[in-house]
Amino acid sequence: MSTPHVLLIEDEPAQREVLAYNLEAEGYRVSRGEDGEQGLLLVDEEAPDLIVLDWMLPSVSGIEVCRQLKMRPETRAIPIIMLSARSEEVDKVRGLETGADDYVVKPYAVAELMARVRTQLRRVRPSTVGQVLEYEDIRLDSETHRVTRAETELKLGPTEFRLLSTFMEKPGRVWSREQLLDRVWGRDIYVDTRTVDVHIGRLRKILTAHGDDPVRTVRGAGYALG
Ligand code: CA
Repeated sequence: MSTPHVLLIEDEPAQREVLAYNLEAEGYRVSRGEDGEQGLLLVDEEAPDLIVLDWMLPSVSGIEVCRQLKMRPETRAIPIIMLSARSEEVDKVRGLETGADDYVVKPYAVAELMARVRTQLRRVRPSTVGQVLEYEDIRLDSETHRVTRAETELKLGPTEFRLLSTFMEKPGRVWSREQLLDRVWGRDIYVDTRTVDVHIGRLRKILTAHGDDPVRTVRGAGYALG
């Protein structure tokens, strides 16, 4: 079981970053596509669990991206949530029967879109959404993004949340820094392995405010929970 992977295809940088930030804060791994053509390439390269797709895109339009993905057997099952600027477009999309799994009209409330994302992911990846992971007195709810230790709520940043979530999926497993980079930051982003140590440090600081340090440093290998 890995972190759900969302591909976001949106050409407007500000909207893309706000949305990516919110998806990451929900604990998802996020890839970003800037136009339709790049989006289609990323689907093949990364096999995401869900796609959030803007209707108005340069090069290949969102509607065409959706049509192509829904025609191909290997990508047909990936849920697609279309974003469109006006409700008339939504009607048009429905009329064209592109096979999008859901539609959200801009401007949308982020919480609403996140709820739609969860609904679609629950359908295709039921084990990764809405699950509560427990390790000793630590509880992590992947749906509400809440983490508690000894009944006290902890405030974790998105990266620390994903680190803890990865650890809690497999307590005792030793993760190398490179494996954590892949799982938590994503393969396509260049991050120095020392960044992992920095975020492990932050995670430990938060966790140890309410108990013993559950994160074990394995010399020459990496980190493990317990
Ligand atoms: Ca657009």
